[in-house]
Amino acid sequence: MSVLTAAALQVGPDLAAHLAAGGGAGLERALADPAAIIPEIEQAGLRGLGGAGFPTHRKWRAVADQPAGSKWVICNGNEDEPGTFKDRFLLERTPHQVIEGALIAALATGASQVVLYVNPREAAALAATQEAVAAWQGHALLARVAAAIGAAVDLRVVESSGLYIGGEETAAVASVQGGFPFPALKPPFPAEHGVHGAPTLVNNVETLAQAGHILARGAAWYRALGRGAPGTKLFSLSGDVLQPGLHELPMGTTLRELVFGHGGGMLGDRPFKAVFTGGPSNTLLTARDLDVAMDFDSLRARGSRLGTGAMIVVSEGTSILRKTAEYVGFFAASSCGQCPPCKVGTFQVARLLARIEAGHGRPGDLDALRNLAALLPGSGRCGLVDGAATVLASSLAAFPEEYARAVR
Ligand code: SF4
Repeated sequence: MSVLTAAALQVGPDLAAHLAAGGGAGLERALADPAAIIPEIEQAGLRGLGGAGFPTHRKWRAVADQPAGSKWVICNGNEDEPGTFKDRFLLERTPHQVIEGALIAALATGASQVVLYVNPREAAALAATQEAVAAWQGHALLARVAAAIGAAVDLRVVESSGLYIGGEETAAVASVQGGFPFPALKPPFPAEHGVHGAPTLVNNVETLAQAGHILARGAAWYRALGRGAPGTKLFSLSGDVLQPGLHELPMGTTLRELVFGHGGGMLGDRPFKAVFTGGPSNTLLTARDLDVAMDFDSLRARGSRLGTGAMIVVSEGTSILRKTAEYVGFFAASSCGQCPPCKVGTFQVARLLARIEAGHGRPGDLDALRNLAALLPGSGRCGLVDGAATVLASSLAAFPEEYARAVR
């Protein structure tokens, strides 16, 4: 299934080629009736595809309902989670879909400041986005957006810090203001108090890229793309599969279809063991989850989460303990240090896991890990510490024998 990944729209920063391929139709429809944008997005059931799954129309409405004045749209392309590589693909291969979506969001909310917030460690994506944004300057379509909003549109690229925490929405706001990307306590949410205190919409690249298609072809068309949940989803498939890569599939595709169909099956015919999902900061999926529909609600009902759509597949013979140590180590290294439980707790977990993995586990280490997994969630300003605790708790619960063996 190809909507965002349609070959015809993979024209890079060439705006004329994007428009010639049918791009721009969503923006035209949005310009024709800006008041109809949010209802259309609501009917489509679009949700935040950066991981949260929050209803997009509610975020847009929250900014639109703020008094007129300075408002911002930040298109969040910070993407830095292990195993996630969807936003960099969109920005590099088809940046105008993303920009078009950001402009539709600007029209819907009345925002004249539009920022493409891009991770500079993805040099090709950054270069393509910069060139694509330059192509919009002085273009008649942008002038029409400005006329509809009633103010000149400042469309530009801001390089993120490249740090993982920079993707959190309040951290993105701080970064766009020129500061270090420290996540902030919420409320206030950016919709009320964002960049320089102005109402700010922060949406993921993939979410905004969907908006143009929804406006162009309608909410009913979009809903029908999915299976039991609306639309399509980009899955970043990696690990022990024959065909890793980016797969755009109907929302609600099963894990079995992804791994054994689109992914070509397991590498070396080794048995499937588990999947680290969406970040990888969620509850692991195991063989008993192969037929679960991969959409926000079905995975949540299963005790996991879709997250960014990253699926890191692990086969029998691969150590879950080692992978967990690797990911918790990433979170510990990524902690911004503002919240002591996060700074100390993730470091402690990473240290314990590394010790056990190295064969030097001590009696009591597993109890210490279980205690930390129970204590840490909810102790930080952002979701980093929760993610580290979740993947730890899930790995301990799903593969207790691996841990028990390692400390014997
Ligand atoms: Fe920083 Fe961790 Fe607190 Fe998030 S939870 S703000 S990463 S210290």
